Amino acid sequence: MMGGIENHRDKPNYKEMSWMIFQEEFGSEGDCIDWLFKTRWPEGFVCPKCEGKGCWKITTRGLYKCSTCRHQVSLTAGTIFHKTRTPLLKWFMLIFRMASSKTGVSINEMKRELEINDYKTVWVMAHKVRKAMADRDSKYKLAGLVEIDESFFGSKSSGKRGRGAEKKELVIVAVSTWTDKKGKEQPGFAHAFVAKDAKAKTIEDVLKRLGIKDEEIKPLISSIRSDGWRSYQTVSERLGLGHQRFVLRDPKDSMKLLPWTHKIIANAKAVFSGPHRGVSHKHLQEYLSEVCYRFNRRFWERQAFHRLLFACVSATGLTRDQLMARRLGEQSQ
Ligand SMILES: [Zn+2]
Repeated sequence: MMGGIENHRDKPNYKEMSWMIFQEEFGSEGDCIDWLFKTRWPEGFVCPKCEGKGCWKITTRGLYKCSTCRHQVSLTAGTIFHKTRTPLLKWFMLIFRMASSKTGVSINEMKRELEINDYKTVWVMAHKVRKAMADRDSKYKLAGLVEIDESFFGSKSSGKRGRGAEKKELVIVAVSTWTDKKGKEQPGFAHAFVAKDAKAKTIEDVLKRLGIKDEEIKPLISSIRSDGWRSYQTVSERLGLGHQRFVLRDPKDSMKLLPWTHKIIANAKAVFSGPHRGVSHKHLQEYLSEVCYRFNRRFWERQAFHRLLFACVSATGLTRDQLMARRLGEQSQ
């Protein structure tokens, strides 16, 4: 059952789904269980241990027992819903809202809409969805000409020292570009990372994660475009990449000369001043991943829910304890 449900299908057939269609397809808990069952076993139940085809339903919550070897299989194993006490219908609704929102959902709003009393429960659910977004995007590499830039994000630190003090986090943003039929440059995939500094070694590590590996004869990234900061120059020389350098004389020029990285930075800043105001630096990375995930799927808005649902059933997932350990100190939103 490792790796989630999606392994059982070659390529999911993503459906376009409005809120109206969603409500028709997922009107009850049983509809959600049926969907998971059909997605995991499109040809009917198959025991992961002995490949037996017969099973008994143990509970209505998606637990099955193989009639050959008696192995118990949970329908939610390998998904972000595993061992949840929250009805799947509420999870699916949250996923729909997170997939179709432009800037992310407010936990308090979802708490009211899903009729869940505990703030932490909704918070953990949303973070598991975000983790699934990040996992999905981590499979994608950058290629061709990659625009790269960094920006500072302010966040309130609420640790023992410097409670409420402004703490700035450095974020490195990298976007693949490609040229369309009309010869116009278009942005491809985007990634954003919280980084400890903007030194050449840090930038090199980021690029290596995104498309250049030492053992690869031909790196996916052919050249970089930057504001000419010396770290980028060092890295381009070290990795043997072409380098388009733009020296910015006026900060406003960055929008024109480095348009794609600045689009991501602007999107992220809008999110952090809106529904996720007061995001602590511990979770900045997850919110950045959410911003990039949305940007990377901007052409499939109508398939957004179905794509995110598949990402959620093929995620490894974080446990509540792992999440809560990192949540300490975060302000309620
Ligand atoms: Zn079996």
